[in-house]
Amino acid sequence: MILLDGKQAAEAMKKDIAREVARWSREWGRKPHLAAILVGDDPASQTYVRNKENDCIQVGMDSSVYRLSESISREGLTECVRTINEDPAIDGLIVQLPLPGHLDEQQIIETIDPAKDVDGFHPVNVGRMVLGLPAFVSATPAGIVDLLQYYHIPTSGKECVIIGRSNIVGKPLANLLSRKGPGGDCTVTLCHSRTLELEKVCRRADIVVAALGQPRFLKANMVKEGAVVIDVGISRVEDKSTKSGFRLAGDVDFEEVAPRCSYITPVPGGVGPMTRLSLLKNTLQAAMKRN
Ligand code: NAD
Repeated sequence: MILLDGKQAAEAMKKDIAREVARWSREWGRKPHLAAILVGDDPASQTYVRNKENDCIQVGMDSSVYRLSESISREGLTECVRTINEDPAIDGLIVQLPLPGHLDEQQIIETIDPAKDVDGFHPVNVGRMVLGLPAFVSATPAGIVDLLQYYHIPTSGKECVIIGRSNIVGKPLANLLSRKGPGGDCTVTLCHSRTLELEKVCRRADIVVAALGQPRFLKANMVKEGAVVIDVGISRVEDKSTKSGFRLAGDVDFEEVAPRCSYITPVPGGVGPMTRLSLLKNTLQAAMKRN
């Protein structure tokens, strides 16, 4: 079994991005700039945004965080998005999800300028991605494809089963893996909470992607011997032995499943760092397109 080390892969790829950022910044006299809107004070969201700021620093990009109150109105948030959309010094914008319950996430996403939508969530980018046109691709699916390619794991003709049909992971990943060309050409089955005989479906797979948000859901009896297993899940589970009182758990029962796999991602340190890498790639791409 080989561990798919997303942290190491992302660090290696960041060096290429940093070189390209330095070249671009010299040419245009400014740095690519990522803005993040953070609503409320959810600790996990704060950590994600802080990590993204640190990533920007590491590759030589500018970043800024717009911190808004938990009780901000839809109009207030939309106004902030509009200000950033119109700011010529900002290339990419993300609205950290989840948003508080009174805000409609889809409605807010649709107010982002598609040319700055580096999370790839705007319908224009989703639609272009599905059609195989140049687009910002959602960061986690793009990161998974990059990770498979980094480890030279063949995808063409392989059976891939994805558990979870969310708009940000399952659905776009199904599209990417089934599209024609390198990193694609898989035969994809997209599973969800209504899928029948999930164990049987998963056992068919050469590549299994667990993205459902249920800690240790994928067990050894659901995985074919020699399969590649990608664990997208990140849940906080109580752990009194740690200082914080919790630890991060993936959707895969790692101890059970790992011995059956050819390759497997750890949590943390697998898909997460690759997701952050994709965001940097998209921000650089946004800056290049705007100039
Ligand atoms: P979501 O919560 O929006 O949707 C979950 C999906 O799983 C749904 O489509 C549902 O049908 C399916 N599902 C739920 N229970 C199921 C079951 N018992 N059997 C089969 N399917 C089932 O999902 P999401 O936003 O894609 O997040 C999934 C997980 O991935 C979460 O833990 C999230 O924190 C994590 N995540 C990680 C990254 C990363 O960078 N590593 C990025 C995004 C999401």
